Amino acid sequence: MKAALFHGPQQPLTIEDVEIDQPMAHEVVVRTAASGVCHSDLHFVEGSYPHPAPAVLGHEAAGVVEAVGDQVTYVKPGDHVIACLSVFCGTCEQCLTGHPYLCAGPETRRGPDDPPKIRLTKSGEPVHQFLNISSFAERMLVHVNAIVKIREDMPLDRAALIGCGVTTGVGAALNTAKVAPGSTVAVFGAGGVGLAAIQGARIAGARQIIAVDVVESKLGLALELGATHTVDASQNEPSKTIRDMTGGGVDYAFEAIGLADVVKQAFYSTRAGGTTTIIGMIPVGQKIEIEGRHFLSERKLQGSSMGSNRFRVDMPRYIDFYLQGRLRLDEMITKRGKLEDVNEAFRAMKAGEVARTVLMLD
Ligand SMILES: [Zn+2]
Ligand SMILES: [Zn+2]
Repeated sequence: MKAALFHGPQQPLTIEDVEIDQPMAHEVVVRTAASGVCHSDLHFVEGSYPHPAPAVLGHEAAGVVEAVGDQVTYVKPGDHVIACLSVFCGTCEQCLTGHPYLCAGPETRRGPDDPPKIRLTKSGEPVHQFLNISSFAERMLVHVNAIVKIREDMPLDRAALIGCGVTTGVGAALNTAKVAPGSTVAVFGAGGVGLAAIQGARIAGARQIIAVDVVESKLGLALELGATHTVDASQNEPSKTIRDMTGGGVDYAFEAIGLADVVKQAFYSTRAGGTTTIIGMIPVGQKIEIEGRHFLSERKLQGSSMGSNRFRVDMPRYIDFYLQGRLRLDEMITKRGKLEDVNEAFRAMKAGEVARTVLMLD
């Protein structure tokens, strides 16, 4: 199959032929229909997070089941599915207490000391999978607990967005922070994930939703998708501006960029008792410095992993929201491209030109 190969940080991906294995007992081969290009892919391409090479990146995808292992009963060839990196085992303490997104995943090793089985190769040499998915490729070989079956009237390119960015942002608002009706919210960063958090806050019934960014076009889109106010952080100090706008600060702040300084801005924009949720991927080694006295007023700072999802429950709900017009995804796809356009998609993302590029593989 054709795949975009990662060779190491700061190098362009190249389109190559890669061999893909047959599915093992609990695995599924999915023909990739569409894959979003997510900011977390970019973190690995830029090297702010390490990953072994060569590898096939990509983790925000939807497609059609092509083949299943002999123990798989959940799906059959022809089913439409979304892949999710929150692959769960279903039997561990995290899974059984309602936190499958914190599960370490099903055991894919043959013995405790054996390396994971290599599923992709190029000329006999191993090619690493990325987040158990590797969607910048014509096919994905995944564990059955990394997919959710979806209704067939859902367009697969918009379904792909739900695979990561939308679930991360909407889930951060609905599941992690549990935004309450009538509350006030500030979302720092109006890229794909930030726009999804804004929509999550709107769906939750927040009365004031403040979008913060330095790119004017992104703030315009944020207003279209549910923000009630905007703050251009290139012109104003956002924390003070937000405290002034809300009479003391917001109930919930979200950091959707992945910068330690922006976490501070988000934290200082909350009122006493307010909660700051970090969604962005802060580069390895970076520390966040917060003045300790603010915890006396019960301000909270918390992380969010993939929107604290139960993706087999959440994703079909988000699809219903989309088909009812309550979750808007059409506007979040700025560009569509082919697999060959993956490097251009990274450039456009870095330049702040797009909310999302979706690569169409079918
Ligand atoms: Zn992602
Ligand atoms: Zn588990």
